[in-house]
Amino acid sequence: MGNADSQGKPKVALYWAASCGGCECTIVDIGEPLLDIASKVEFVLWPVALDFKYHHIRAMEDKNIDLCLFNGAIRNSEQEEMAKLLRQKSKIVVAYGACAHMGGIPGLSNFSTKEATFNTIYNEVPTVKDEKKRPLPQTKTKVKEGELELPEFYDRVYKLNDIIDVDYYVPGCPPTSDQTVLFLTAVLEGNLPPHGAVFGPKKNLCDECPRERKEKIVKEFYRPHEKRPNLDECLLDQGFFCQGPVTRAGCGSQCINANMPCRGCYGPSDKVSDMGGAFISTLASIIDSQDEKEIRDIVAKIPDIAGTVHRFSLPSFIVNEKSKKEDRK
Ligand code: SF4
Ligand code: SF4
Repeated sequence: MGNADSQGKPKVALYWAASCGGCECTIVDIGEPLLDIASKVEFVLWPVALDFKYHHIRAMEDKNIDLCLFNGAIRNSEQEEMAKLLRQKSKIVVAYGACAHMGGIPGLSNFSTKEATFNTIYNEVPTVKDEKKRPLPQTKTKVKEGELELPEFYDRVYKLNDIIDVDYYVPGCPPTSDQTVLFLTAVLEGNLPPHGAVFGPKKNLCDECPRERKEKIVKEFYRPHEKRPNLDECLLDQGFFCQGPVTRAGCGSQCINANMPCRGCYGPSDKVSDMGGAFISTLASIIDSQDEKEIRDIVAKIPDIAGTVHRFSLPSFIVNEKSKKEDRK
């Protein structure tokens, strides 16, 4: 890794935007190898763990940070400002985890409007639901002491490369600790893939899955709580919604080994451009019927099919791509 401070250590920034904190847990879960990595770098920003301030970053020269791991999607103006600032100050910016990579779980709110999202959060969830209509967040609020400001909440969620140029992507919700160590080691050794690469195997999850596969012919789909899958047979063959055929390998088949179908958090494999579209086409090819009504009945039993096939990738969906420039100021 190129730049070094006066002690000869490369500078590293970690930042979280619209995310759950799982990516931060992965960093901590690295365990003992993290001590070795930490001894070789200097952390200059890590809001979840260390008390650096934004003004410390603003005061730096451009490209002074060697590596920025940015997790989380972009949902508000503060996150956009930080993404742009960290791009300006960093040599390498990495979209770390599914939310920065593809929009992730927060991106599912692109099915809804900003107003509906606020209304659900502040007025409708059971823990706040009562007679009172609560005020919704405003960017400026007058109080007797003066004016309070909040970041602007955008109409939709953006993946990181909608906002800034991204050098690499480390996939996963969250990425595994093992893969994170491999990535950090590659950075420290200057052994990185080409600019813009997703760090991980090119193949799909089915290629590394140990389960036995037969010809896929499905009459009925099940959710994991409705039936216990057997341990040896392909989950999709058994009628479970396993997105292995369109998902990048590299997680070590974590969900499959726990007898749960893959939900696609590693994003599309190299041959897939739109995960949701590709998986719908997989489903269409395995449904065991030629009768339109029967096919409709089989598909109707899958709740929220659009959200299910785009669980982590809605802001990357081609339709969102076409509309994305229109609603951010
Ligand atoms: S569909 Fe799922 S269970 Fe079946 S082979 Fe692929 S990853 Fe394994
Ligand atoms: S099996 Fe699928 S959902 Fe589970 S960790 Fe791997 S890529 Fe993510």
